[in-house]
Amino acid sequence: MKLGIFGGTFDPVHIGHLILAEAVREACVLDEVRFLPAYSPPHKQSREISPGKQRVDMLEFATAGFPEFVVDQRELKRQGTSYTVDTLAELKQEFPDAELHFLMGADSLIDLPTWREPQRIAELAKIIAVNRNNSSREDLEQVVKQLPVAVQAAITIVDIPEIAVSASDLRSRISENRSIRFLTPRPVERYIQEQSLYQSS
Ligand code: ATP
Repeated sequence: MKLGIFGGTFDPVHIGHLILAEAVREACVLDEVRFLPAYSPPHKQSREISPGKQRVDMLEFATAGFPEFVVDQRELKRQGTSYTVDTLAELKQEFPDAELHFLMGADSLIDLPTWREPQRIAELAKIIAVNRNNSSREDLEQVVKQLPVAVQAAITIVDIPEIAVSASDLRSRISENRSIRFLTPRPVERYIQEQSLYQSS
């Protein structure tokens, strides 16, 4: 079984996440993509993050009806800082025969050397890096070349349709009373309205 692991804050989930997951699922022939909302992402300590329950609800709405997309709450249940290496080690124990594929955008790949135990991450999973913010394949290859050789070997670059959308954009649009129509699935948009999320930036 080929398992996609897609970690993030998902505050909120948006079409950039969904198109990434679908494009990689198809390109890598994954049986399943697991969306793992972080409890406390090590790289985003500066901002107040929405409660896990709301981020999970939005992910459930976004992935409903797509059986290959699964919301996995293990990082929320584990609490504490959400280190990817711990999550992958847990998944490897739970699915010893699965081939793990860890999905990440170009911006996250650049940060990878600062993550906890990048080498061990590369031992536990294949790393699937996708373009973001107009990074070309050549840009990504340059980033890969800066990484330790053992990590480089685990990386595959997958080209996806460029979607210039971020969760920060959605949050600031909402706080400015601007439209987020089509930037996230309709049920997520409705939930954000009902729960009055992101009203102030
Ligand atoms: P924020 O704007 O709050 O920083 P974000 O939109 O970057 O959030 P995250 O939940 O932090 O979303 O992202 C999780 C993963 O998805 C990261 O690996 C990130 O690179 C990737 N990602 C998010 N949006 C896109 C996008 N539009 N294109 C490609 N990759 C993306």
